[in-house]
Amino acid sequence: MPEVHAKLSPSSGERWINCTKSFELIDSLNIPESEAGLAAEEGTLAHSVLENECLYRLGRISLVEYKSERSELVRAGRDLLGYNPYNEMQEYAQQQIDVIFDLTRKQFLSHKHEGVIWLETRVFPGIEGCFGTADAIVALEDELHVIDYKYGRGVPVSPVENTQLKLYGLGALEAFKAFWNFNTVTLHIIQPRLASHRQWETLPEKLVQWREDVVKPAVEEINTGTGKFAPSEGACRWCPVKALCTARAQKIWEGIGL
Ligand code: SF4
Repeated sequence: MPEVHAKLSPSSGERWINCTKSFELIDSLNIPESEAGLAAEEGTLAHSVLENECLYRLGRISLVEYKSERSELVRAGRDLLGYNPYNEMQEYAQQQIDVIFDLTRKQFLSHKHEGVIWLETRVFPGIEGCFGTADAIVALEDELHVIDYKYGRGVPVSPVENTQLKLYGLGALEAFKAFWNFNTVTLHIIQPRLASHRQWETLPEKLVQWREDVVKPAVEEINTGTGKFAPSEGACRWCPVKALCTARAQKIWEGIGL
């Protein structure tokens, strides 16, 4: 089944929430939202390796299933990169597995036995047209943890007020809301090739407030064509039309580097 991407995707949320006119320019220039480059495909493969390792370590697939998927991924890795990257990706995946196991071990030691681990889960943050796939969600008694795995070698990404992670956090809260109350939501970003694990704790009500006060009004502007260009470092960084955008060029001209 082909992978389905939302127009209002969490991964580009920093752009569309702040620059509510960006879709109009992207559509008018007929430029795809994202190009599937080698780095993106390598990242997808690394996520598949992580999922295979996690599922096996959690006892959710058999050894036969694990080995079969592993062979598929080795083949895909050779086709993509010209060598077998599985062992290297498996080593990096261990960082995320350690975090998940550490969280659940803490739960076990504190004699709280209620816990759930979801992997590669599609979440809906309660905003029409917005959904995405969270790499890992761990629910422990009154704590909700959302864990994002970034395989790139770029700069460390902060989870503090991170738009993408906040949307995943809202999606996780929506998924559990009928039967589970949380006191805290902790957003984690793991970048194994930078040996980086950063986390930020917030409150469920703060995320909901942000959705009502910031995200929904932005979506309203997008849907009614009343948006505005708002160039900024965060919004423009991954914008597919940044090389052609007059608003961004104007801001650079004014001496505010983006
Ligand atoms: S480059 Fe920046 S200002 Fe221009 S459309 Fe994209 S996000 Fe908006």
